[in-house]
Amino acid sequence: MKKTILAFGLFLPALFLASCAGNASAEQVDQLVSQITWLGSTNPYGHTAILIQAGDLNIYLDPVDLASIDTLPKADIILVTHNHADHFSAETIAALTKEGTTVVSFASPTMAALYPEGIRLAPGENERVNGIKIEAISAYNDSHAQGMGFVGFILTIDGVRVYCSGDTELSPEMLALADIDVAVLNVRAGYSLSGEDAADFAEQVGPQVLIPIHWMPEDDTYDDGAQIDILRQDLPATTHLVVLELK
Ligand SMILES: [Zn+2]
Repeated sequence: MKKTILAFGLFLPALFLASCAGNASAEQVDQLVSQITWLGSTNPYGHTAILIQAGDLNIYLDPVDLASIDTLPKADIILVTHNHADHFSAETIAALTKEGTTVVSFASPTMAALYPEGIRLAPGENERVNGIKIEAISAYNDSHAQGMGFVGFILTIDGVRVYCSGDTELSPEMLALADIDVAVLNVRAGYSLSGEDAADFAEQVGPQVLIPIHWMPEDDTYDDGAQIDILRQDLPATTHLVVLELK
């Protein structure tokens, strides 16, 4: 059945994409996706960071040991899903911080001590920062215990809802999400989502665009490339796969 859907998908016009799932138009979504940069990292566990440039705002997700740190703009908002070493670096955050930078993180005493002016969100909570609504969604699996309060985030930027999963299994909380326009999913089988999980998410939640991050295109330690191949094969025609280049 998947094959039929895939073949059918080749002939579907973009119009069909505009009719499904989230609230934003295909044009709005394309515009937003063009503002997302996947950031390479020297961290051996992968590339977990993105930069979203929304108008004047520079929003970073999980920046760690960024390869291009010297040329990157300072942050207005820095999002931290959890404090594992491939997602959180106080040094990288310090390097991106300017006056007025807000760190929005999962809720923990450590983050409160490090960033007393920051915002901490438990799963289900939300806050508006610089005009951007930020919602926290629970993120957990066998290597990320649910009780730790780790999260993913949904950002609403210019009417486009962008879900950044964090490290998680394909949880009921994820599958209950609605009106997601762009899904930025952490793909790494065994530590976060498999390619099949990501495709299942697309099938059930129906984002217009899916962007896999955290996988390592140039390194097959975790066999990440195979997961992306599975994702390419199994993704429903209603979701457009965008594989970014590392910058
Ligand atoms: Zn990770």
